[in-house]
Amino acid sequence: RYVFGVESSCDDTAAAVLKITDKVEVLSSVVLGQDADHAPFGGVVPEIAARAHAEKIDKVAYQALLQADVPPADLDLIAATAGPGLIGGVMAGFTFAKGLSMATGVPLVPVNHLEGHALSVGLEADVATPYLLLLVSGGHTQLLVVEGPGKARRLGTTIDDAAGEAFDKTAKLMGLGTPGGPAIERAAKEGDPDRFEMPRPLLGRGGFDFSFSGLKTAVRQAAEEASPLSDQDRADLAASFQKAAIEHLARRTRAALEETGAKTLVAAGGVASNQMLRGRLEEIAEGAGAAFVAPSLRFCTDNAAMIALAGYLLHEAGMAPSQEDALALAPRPRWPLDENAAPVVGKGK
Ligand code: ATP
Ligand code: FE
Repeated sequence: RYVFGVESSCDDTAAAVLKITDKVEVLSSVVLGQDADHAPFGGVVPEIAARAHAEKIDKVAYQALLQADVPPADLDLIAATAGPGLIGGVMAGFTFAKGLSMATGVPLVPVNHLEGHALSVGLEADVATPYLLLLVSGGHTQLLVVEGPGKARRLGTTIDDAAGEAFDKTAKLMGLGTPGGPAIERAAKEGDPDRFEMPRPLLGRGGFDFSFSGLKTAVRQAAEEASPLSDQDRADLAASFQKAAIEHLARRTRAALEETGAKTLVAAGGVASNQMLRGRLEEIAEGAGAAFVAPSLRFCTDNAAMIALAGYLLHEAGMAPSQEDALALAPRPRWPLDENAAPVVGKGK
């Protein structure tokens, strides 16, 4: 079966083709970033993102089909992100997918972007459900028990910033480049993680929620006190922040592993490409007698291969809406993963 995926929820325009037999093969995964478009503004500008998606989705899609050497008529399924995200961009990608579906007669499956991250590990590994998922991305930080496609139970979420957002904001106020996550990881390699004292968010508080705003404030204060920052100051600050942020994620994840007794720990989302985080999660899983699995770096950050896989799995599980409902569906800027399995038809705002 050939599955086509489209992703446009933030600042990456992406398309992919999977070949699914008894295994999953990524025939193509094209990702066109917009870093240069947004760089002058120090963050993603929704209107610019929407225009860039609308301008480029056709070329990205064409390239993905060409690279895979699969003509549109040979596709068996089209999956596209229908939310959550910056609505203009989501609409650009989803409307393109609707058009392709109408023109070819290939069924369309609307996919929750977070479902894509949640199932992304399946692109490269055969992981049995249920598993404990640490979903750490630019807009979300959650611990979930993934029981199957369309079936996730949320244990905890961030009460303020997402982890990736904290990396991005912290990098910005330290004068490191964008995106912040990779910039901090790079700078931290040369830094002393114990030089600056950082708070330990929600320490002593039970539950599985996260908080990153205190860390961000601590970095701002330390940066002001040490100003003007030398390269070494920046490296030390990046290392101190990174260590504290990762310890926070690790502590909550360890507690959730203990609570659920999960046999497998999965990490997904852009922040899961951080090597130090991967190392810590591996240690924690080992300590709890669980296996640790995470997608390779290119499938942690946004891509359309994970959307194609999620669409396929939802379809196979009988959880995809009818073609009529899929074509009538309005994309949703907000769409929690654990709300219900199928998208609510016509309820887009
Ligand atoms: P969401 O999936 O919640 O809608 P998003 O799609 O924008 O958000 P992703 O593409 O999954 O998010 O991840 C991007 C985030 O990952 C950014 O905040 C980026 O800084 C962060 N990130 C990327 N690489 C790293 C890294 N090596 N270390 C830490 N953070 C990273
Ligand atoms: Fe994402």
